[in-house]
Amino acid sequence: MIPVIALVGRPNVGKSTLFNQLTRSRDALVANLPGLTRDRKYGEARSGDRPFVVIDTGGISGDEHGIDSEMAEQSLVAIEESDAVLFMVDAREGLNPADQSLALHLRQRNKSFHLVVNKIDGIDADVAMSDFYALGVESMFGIAASHGRGVRAMIADVLQSFPAEEVEEDEAFPNSTRVAVVGRPNVGKSTLVNRLLGEDRVVVYDEPGTTRDSIYIDYQRGDRDYTLIDTAGVRRRKNVKQTVEKFSIVKTLKAIDDAHVVVLVMDAHEGIVDQDMHLLGHCIEAGRGLVLAVNKWDGVEPDQRDWIKSELGRRLSFADYADTHFISALHGTGVGHLYKSIDAAFESATRKLSTNALTRILEGAVFDHAPPMVNGRRIKLRYAHAGGQNPPLIVIHGNQTGKVPNSYQRYLEKIYRRELKLVGTPVRIEFRTSD
Ligand code: GDP
Ligand code: GDP
Repeated sequence: MIPVIALVGRPNVGKSTLFNQLTRSRDALVANLPGLTRDRKYGEARSGDRPFVVIDTGGISGDEHGIDSEMAEQSLVAIEESDAVLFMVDAREGLNPADQSLALHLRQRNKSFHLVVNKIDGIDADVAMSDFYALGVESMFGIAASHGRGVRAMIADVLQSFPAEEVEEDEAFPNSTRVAVVGRPNVGKSTLVNRLLGEDRVVVYDEPGTTRDSIYIDYQRGDRDYTLIDTAGVRRRKNVKQTVEKFSIVKTLKAIDDAHVVVLVMDAHEGIVDQDMHLLGHCIEAGRGLVLAVNKWDGVEPDQRDWIKSELGRRLSFADYADTHFISALHGTGVGHLYKSIDAAFESATRKLSTNALTRILEGAVFDHAPPMVNGRRIKLRYAHAGGQNPPLIVIHGNQTGKVPNSYQRYLEKIYRRELKLVGTPVRIEFRTSD
């Protein structure tokens, strides 16, 4: 599972600066996608090739009138959900009573945390840090977030306590398609989960156990095995106390990362809102198979349907590889079609692609439309092979591959998608220079 790191501390200690530093490259990727806005609070980041989620909790003042009253509900949830807390303090200001009450508060919540002394640039770091020994924290780092100093090493250290583990394959269901049903509150996830599981053709296996995150439900439909990742907590055992609110972004992000195919549920009545775009952005970044379900279609007047469809097509054009279904979870309309798209996306996302086929398609594409000249030399693309699945990664070797224009890369993507009939999944292309 992807570790979640929460940034906590008084205002102005540098939380947003660190957040931006950690998520910079990932954010840029999202910013390139037209029509995508981003909730600043939750970000994706990487340490080496290890992904993690970082949360900027913001707004904890920690004054002596009691932290709880001051702490926004979201901050509490974020701390609760995180695997590690980075408690940030300001090296230039020295130890502040508010820091002390915040430390006390974290201890009371039984959260292990690391102390991050920020803004050590241009001052004696050891002296500045010694001021904070009084907090009695074992794990302490000195960084300068705005310069990036000490940041990589700190993150690597913090992540070390979370062994990188592959997604655990369910032993009883080794080949099962993991389907995550995600979406904002009230779009109809619970209703849809019940529909997906309640179909006549579905045999649900184990009474779902609980994890801290979502519920994983194994079942069979026809001759296929599925594991439904239920972020709405529909089938949670009654006696299991819910420690976090029903909808949680972190839980959703984790479910997406753990899925083969994500069913993103939206509400036809409300159109596409920023949070839908945010979740969609994450699905794309994570490279997951994707099916869009526009729910509550039953309540939409016939004369509005065309308009909604064209509006969706326009705003979701960058995710046009995903099938869109207009469904009514309430009445069960369109649910069977969802399964068709889920199966197709799974098949595409996990297909084994042969070097021969990939190279042949590359040759055809180059023959039809050669890459441009760069500095009087033509870019040569020689052969291709598969670099991974879910999402399919196609590695193309050649010379001057660093100069391949984005438009040409998109052209190749389009050709591969068409020739291989890949649906419902992003296709990634990576170039290697082999001369
Ligand atoms: P937040 O309120 O905790 O999110 O704090 P910000 O990230 O907004 O930072 C508050 C101020 O501290 C800003 O003016 C930052 O430029 C500054 N700042 C953040 N990190 C550093 C640092 O490493 N060194 C210095 N000198 N200033 C920093
Ligand atoms: P969740 O918060 O995403 O799990 O949403 P719920 O499944 O709890 O649904 C929220 C509300 O929308 C409930 O009142 C549902 O009855 C209603 N709802 C769900 N699906 C549909 C649908 O297809 N059509 C209509 N009209 N209402 C629906």
